[in-house]
Amino acid sequence: MTADAGTTRDEREPAMLDQQVFGDNPTEVRDTDHYTREYVGGLVDKWDELIDWSKRYETEGRFFTEQLRARSARTVLDVATGTGFHSVRLLEEGFDTVSADGSPQMLARAFRNGFDYGGHVLRVVNADWRWLNRDVHGEFDAIICLGNSFTHLFSEHDRRKALAEFYAKLRYDGVLIIDQRNYDALLDGESSNSHTYYYCGAQVAAEPDHVDQGLARYKYTFPDESEYFLNMYPLRKNYMRGLLRDVGFQRLETFGDFQASYADSEPDFFIHVAEKL
Ligand code: SAM
Repeated sequence: MTADAGTTRDEREPAMLDQQVFGDNPTEVRDTDHYTREYVGGLVDKWDELIDWSKRYETEGRFFTEQLRARSARTVLDVATGTGFHSVRLLEEGFDTVSADGSPQMLARAFRNGFDYGGHVLRVVNADWRWLNRDVHGEFDAIICLGNSFTHLFSEHDRRKALAEFYAKLRYDGVLIIDQRNYDALLDGESSNSHTYYYCGAQVAAEPDHVDQGLARYKYTFPDESEYFLNMYPLRKNYMRGLLRDVGFQRLETFGDFQASYADSEPDFFIHVAEKL
């Protein structure tokens, strides 16, 4: 694979492009660009089994739409669209939504899901966060980056660059809602790994395959015994909060599994709501 600014070119045979490839040393794959080789083929097909739309709908409730409405947001950029769960939800609720993602295969699935779940025509843009302002036009009242997506950035430089791009894409008083798995609990050996709130598919086992300070490699096993992996950077909560402040967000609130009050080791996920003003 060769890469230049914002594009990755995979030089494998077309038939191989649907395969996840981690090579001989999977735990050495710690590369921001690698996500485009992880969200492919079989995993894209199975992602909705993993997240189970109807259960997720129930467990999230109105949390995100209420956060957006409380800040009078109307235009929303979903920068990690995936298969489209939140984009579709926002369209249903009347938000003017643009759906971006760096994986063309995930976006294609999101577009189809938009049709299937309510006849929506998603406005999709293939864009990597690090070059967001080059590829997505206009300004937004809000950006959402959900489903533990930011974890795919492996260098601090990429994290700062992506957050700076999000900041620049927001209206002067806009809001970024970004979530992450509770990696503190995982790294500190306190993880319940119950994955109750986000990845709700009851038939799918999601478990850490390897964890160190620089890598959380998860294995996803499906009822047909197929296995897929994701290599992710284990973000600590306070490190993430520091980055959000460093790029300029002035007000920051961090929820644990949608609650404002929690003991740090308990939640599966943290959700940061970061305001520019
Ligand atoms: N938000 C969706 C959900 O909650 O189901 C999808 C979450 S999935 C864990 C992460 C998504 O982030 C994938 O669709 C992946 O392609 C996208 N992604 C990861 N790194 C990216 C980057 N640097 N630029 C753009 N998209 C990226």
